[in-house]
Amino acid sequence: MPQAILPILTNMLVAVMFIGAFLVTAHTYPMVRRARWFALAYAFGVLDPLANLGIWLGGNVRVMQTIGFAGFLTALVTMALALSYYHRRPPMWACGAAILVCGCIWRIATIDAPRDTIWYQLSFQSWFAMGSVLCAVALSQHAPRSLLNRCLVSVYIVTALHFLVKAAFATALGTGATERDFAGTIYAVISQTSSGLLMIAAGLLVVASFLHSVVRATQTEALSDPLTGLPNRRAFDQWLDVAQGDGMQFPLSVAIIDVDHFKRFNDRFGHAVGDEVLREVAACLERNRPSAGRAARVGGEEFVLLLPMDRRATFLVVESMRMAIAQLAYKDTDPITVSIGIATMERGESTSELLRRADRALYRAKAAGRDRCEIDTPDEESASPVARPALKLVARH
Ligand code: GH3
Ligand code: MG
Ligand code: MG
Repeated sequence: MPQAILPILTNMLVAVMFIGAFLVTAHTYPMVRRARWFALAYAFGVLDPLANLGIWLGGNVRVMQTIGFAGFLTALVTMALALSYYHRRPPMWACGAAILVCGCIWRIATIDAPRDTIWYQLSFQSWFAMGSVLCAVALSQHAPRSLLNRCLVSVYIVTALHFLVKAAFATALGTGATERDFAGTIYAVISQTSSGLLMIAAGLLVVASFLHSVVRATQTEALSDPLTGLPNRRAFDQWLDVAQGDGMQFPLSVAIIDVDHFKRFNDRFGHAVGDEVLREVAACLERNRPSAGRAARVGGEEFVLLLPMDRRATFLVVESMRMAIAQLAYKDTDPITVSIGIATMERGESTSELLRRADRALYRAKAAGRDRCEIDTPDEESASPVARPALKLVARH
């Protein structure tokens, strides 16, 4: 058996495994169903080793040569189109079609040309080099600049260069006296092995990029509230963990915002209207929050703001948000009002203590008649009323 048959068979099997991996990924994760295009590219890629096998087994040399060449070039062009399509950008159809059509015309025109000259080999390999460059261009123009995508661009550039280097190897080592002798040459082993390794590297990076997209989407979903689109309680807990872990940035304040008598909204106007009100309140918080602040929905009709501000600045910001919410009018419902409890982080204090104090202030805002902001101070429980001037900031209506 010729020595290149083993790498040729291995390449076919690896390509088939990647086709399976792309199809299973596309089927399992609907968000990456465009992965099917990569399966198509690798399916075209199988035609090249198949044609090599066909020639060795005695098939029509010219037909097999043309099928192998066209198949491999189509695989590279399809890969470039798939990369653009996957990243939801218009594929470079014109460039792809031009490379494919011109390449096939060249193949047919030179089918009987002497093979072991540098010019023949260079022009033969340059079509595949162009296909690889098209993949690199599609990626660098259309894909986000992540580490994975940079690695993939590098693999396609290396692939393009490797085709050109292969032209020199082919001329120096020879590609066999006839096409049928090709599989017995040392060049065929080098050619099949190097192309196979690069095909595996590109395929693995593509699969890794699918999984990365799926994991990122899942993380985003896990951290956001489906009703309002705001970050959820889990996201808020993570912010607090990070804030505490980073050696606590001061000042830091928390405001807990609770919609007043929300149950009545639901009872009078129905749950759907209640949902719409929650969306309106969330949108209002997002619109009015300072860019350095963060808003999250942490419970049914409960929201929080995390603000890198001191007590007074937080009060002013939050009070303006409360007034903005009071301006919201949803259909003919009652006015929407909120009660807010504010607490500002003290040195040495834990985030759970901070939240407990903000909750305490909220409770007081509710008890005092709702539709207002209350500020909590750490020594509030022990202090006498005259000793807490900060509480004078309570807004009344
Ligand atoms: P208070 O002013 O004391 O806060 O009164 P409240 O009615 O707002 O508070 P309560 O805790 O009694 O009721 C909260 C209601 O919020 C009860 C629950 O049905 C409703 N709720 C919780 N989550 C949702 C949601 O996602 N959509 C809708 N429409 N209602 C929700
Ligand atoms: Mg409420
Ligand atoms: Mg509540």
